[in-house]
Amino acid sequence: MTDARILDGKSLAATLRSGIAAAVAGLGRSHGVVPGIAMVLVGDDPASHIYVRNKTRQAGECGFFARDILLPANTPESQVLDTVAALNRDPAIHGFLVQMPLPRHIRPEAVIDAVDPAKDADGFHFVNAGYLAMGRDAVIPATPLGCLALIRLAHTDLTGLSAVVIGRSNSVGKPTVQLLLRENCTVTVAHSKSRDLPTIARTADILVAAVGRPELVRGDWVKPGATVIDVGINRLDLGGGKTKMVGDVAFAEAVKVAGAITPVPGGVGPMTIACLLQNTLALCCRKLGVSIPVPA
Ligand code: NAP
Repeated sequence: MTDARILDGKSLAATLRSGIAAAVAGLGRSHGVVPGIAMVLVGDDPASHIYVRNKTRQAGECGFFARDILLPANTPESQVLDTVAALNRDPAIHGFLVQMPLPRHIRPEAVIDAVDPAKDADGFHFVNAGYLAMGRDAVIPATPLGCLALIRLAHTDLTGLSAVVIGRSNSVGKPTVQLLLRENCTVTVAHSKSRDLPTIARTADILVAAVGRPELVRGDWVKPGATVIDVGINRLDLGGGKTKMVGDVAFAEAVKVAGAITPVPGGVGPMTIACLLQNTLALCCRKLGVSIPVPA
C-alpha cells in the first residue's frame, strides 16, 4: 500500500493568506478601512508568546493593523476585563482575542463572556458557539475552520461520511463536531471517558484527533484510506535541551494506513492563524455591511 497523501497546511495557509491580503487591500481601496486585530497576552508562557508573535507578524504581512497587549502574569482579573472592554469600544479594532491559557487567578469564562460577540475573532463567546450549534451565521473557531479546509483537500463532498472527533474542548473538539455535522457527516465524539477508543476510531472515514496526548492514535486505529487530521501539538523533551514537536497521531504508523493525513508541524497549526485572520476580516466586513470574497 502506498503512503497517504500529505495534507500540506503550510501551503494551504499561504494561499489563504494571499487571498486575505488581496481582500484587505481591496477594502482599503473601496472603503478606506484597515481591518484591525488585537491580541491580549497575560503572563510569560513561552508557547503563548510564540503564538502571539506569529499571529501579529502574519496579520501585519496581510495588511492588518495589528496590536499586541502584553500584561504581566500578576495582572488582576479586573484589569484584564477592563482591557477587553476598551477593545470592545475601540473603533480601530474589528476583532481580537485573549490568548489562552490564562494565569490561574483569572477565570477564562469571565474573560470570554466579556468579549463583544461581534469582535470575537476566536469564536469562543457563547453567542457564537450557540449560533454555530444552531446552524446559524457564527464566528467559527479558527482551528476547526482550518481542519475543515484541510479535510476539503481530500473530499469535495463530506455528505454521509463517518467522522470521529477525539476531544470535546469548547475551542476545538465541540466546534469541529458542529462543523462536520453541518457538512452532513455522521459524527461520533470521543473523550477521556470513552470506552475502546481504537474500535471507535476505526469506524472513521474522517478522524480528527484533538487530545493533547503525544501519538495516542496508533496506525491500527486508522481505517484504511481514512483522512486523518492531527490537531495535537505536544513537545517531547529529548534531553540535552532538545525538544521535538509531535501530534496526537503516531504519524509514521498512520501514514501507512490513511488515505490522507496532516503532518505536525505544518498541518493544522498554520491554518489556525490564517483562519483567525479570515475571521477578523469577516468581522470587519460585517461591520461595514460589505461582503468580500475570501477563499475558504
Ligand atoms: P483540551 O482542552 O485539554 O481538551 C482535550 C480533550 O481530549 C478533552 O476533551 C479530553 O477529554 C480529551 N482527552 C484527554 N485525554 C484523552 C485520552 N487519553 N483519550 C481520549 N480523549 C482524551 O485540549 P484542546 O485545547 O482541545 O487541544 C487539544 C490539542 O490540540 C492540544 O495538543 C493542543 O495543544 C492542540 N491545539 C492545536 C491547535 C493548532 O492550531 N494546531 C490549536 C488548539 C489546540 P475530557 O473532556 O474527558 O477531559
